Amino acid sequence: MSKTDELWKLREEHIPKAVFNVTPYIAAKAIGAVVKDIEGREFIDLTGGVGVMNVGHSAPRVVKAIKEQADRFTHTCFSVMMYESYVELARRMNELAPGDFAKKTMFVNSGAEAVENAVKIARYATKRSGIIAFEDAFHGRTLLTMTLTSKVKPYKYGFGTLAPDVYRVPYAYCYRCAFGLKYPSCGLRCVEYIKEILHTHVAVEDVAAVLAEPILGEGGFVVPPSGWHKKVKQLCEDNGILYIDDEVQAGFGRTAKMFAIEHFEVEPDLITTAKSMAGGLPLAGVTGRTEVMDAPHFGGLGSTFGGNPLACQAALAVLETFEKEKLLNRAQLIGAKVMERFKAMQKEIDIIGDVRGMGAMVAMELVKDRVTKEPAKDQTSALIKKCYEKGVLTFQAGTYGNILRILMPLVITDEQLEEGLNILQESLIEIG
Ligand code: PLP
Repeated sequence: MSKTDELWKLREEHIPKAVFNVTPYIAAKAIGAVVKDIEGREFIDLTGGVGVMNVGHSAPRVVKAIKEQADRFTHTCFSVMMYESYVELARRMNELAPGDFAKKTMFVNSGAEAVENAVKIARYATKRSGIIAFEDAFHGRTLLTMTLTSKVKPYKYGFGTLAPDVYRVPYAYCYRCAFGLKYPSCGLRCVEYIKEILHTHVAVEDVAAVLAEPILGEGGFVVPPSGWHKKVKQLCEDNGILYIDDEVQAGFGRTAKMFAIEHFEVEPDLITTAKSMAGGLPLAGVTGRTEVMDAPHFGGLGSTFGGNPLACQAALAVLETFEKEKLLNRAQLIGAKVMERFKAMQKEIDIIGDVRGMGAMVAMELVKDRVTKEPAKDQTSALIKKCYEKGVLTFQAGTYGNILRILMPLVITDEQLEEGLNILQESLIEIG
């Protein structure tokens, strides 16, 4: 029996099946954009651990910062005794986040925890409880964030009762417009609809926040049309509603800006970050207007592990790596390359219904028929399998599981990217 088979046997015995694995391999080492398994196989990683490894696996500055911090101390709990890296990282986040106003940041451990805290803060600051969230959104798997998440299976099914006071409206998913309209002649009907639900579903005086991803992540890299975020933000401003921008997947340089919302020229009241923030260590943050962040009472916010010193040092090293290696430029360059190749593939391969993205956040939506747009879920799963069998890691997305998304580390070399895309193209032709 191979070591891989042995570990799978143990995994099946000791770990629940709901905690899923996409590939059958077992990781041994990872550097840059390459992951090696315990049998010596090498994979070009176009997933970056689902958007976590923007600075690359084992990024040297990150590894050094973690090792040095581990030699000093690994935990005090920020609430027991604070440390410099937490304060410095908060200062940097406040400086980097969009908005020419005073901001504050707190740290937690995961994207879901960041969203939970952003909602708590928004509710406290507004003294309202309603949250407007979007169809096809993903915000996490805790009770509140699975409620805020749209996709039912596998995320919500069987796990109820869900949290109250969440109101859902369609996102600006133009390829599958909920109103059957076309942009720009639609006049952004989807924003008008939000105004309607403030009469038909919940009173405006009861709505604390609109929670939106700048670009849908798990929902399939849906980029809203120009003006959409601005119009939603205006609606919020007109009605005393806060705008929470969930940057967990699209942020930290993925779209060639540090925060994806910068592309849309909107200054959110609260921003959640996680994933690529700390180069693979668990860290997440809530950044927001000082008066909003300071609303909750003393002791009302916190976390035992949140803003762990190893993770904060790693995050500072991630920021340094972005600067020194000009990773925002790199995101633009490699994203343009992927987009160009995907568009070319779309011309040749019928199953590719739509290609979209921004910066290095690029996806293709696979359909059985370009007119009916029937989602090609099984073919997407088959494509991912073919790719990993040929040495390329890719990942699925979308409410119907028919979207292939690319989240490669931004340090991927041109050769690795080329090879990865060639294998993807070859696999698409085979399944198409
Ligand atoms: N928000 C968004 C936009 C996400 O993409 C995710 C995870 O994919 C989350 C929140 C939840 O993050 P985590 O899995 O770290 O809890």
